[in-house]
Amino acid sequence: MGPKVSRMWARVSLSLAMASAAALVLTLALGELLDLGPAGAGLAIGGVLLAGLLMLLAVAATARLRCPGCGKQTVRPQWGPGRRLYCPLCGAALVYDDEEEDAAQPEAASGPEREERWRSGFRD
Ligand SMILES: [Zn+2]
Repeated sequence: MGPKVSRMWARVSLSLAMASAAALVLTLALGELLDLGPAGAGLAIGGVLLAGLLMLLAVAATARLRCPGCGKQTVRPQWGPGRRLYCPLCGAALVYDDEEEDAAQPEAASGPEREERWRSGFRD
């Protein structure tokens, strides 16, 4: 079992990036909706600074995501298990720590399900 990509840091990074975008959108929306005059400029600067800070933290979090093969930062953060991605540099499978290493799905799950289908067909 080789090293794996941290799901936690992927989610931290994605959350921070979304919070950054939300802060920016909220700042712009509030600036449009409320006519705050001089106070509006302060709000806008604060909002943009907050968004920038959150984006910096998101980038810092992605630095924790490294290819298990070559150690380069080639991992695109994924919120949950889905399509298996591969490192563009070394071709290693980017397996997260909540995923199985081999892509083959176990056949054991089809057994009881097939029996259940047979029974329901018998009842009709
Ligand atoms: Zn790699």
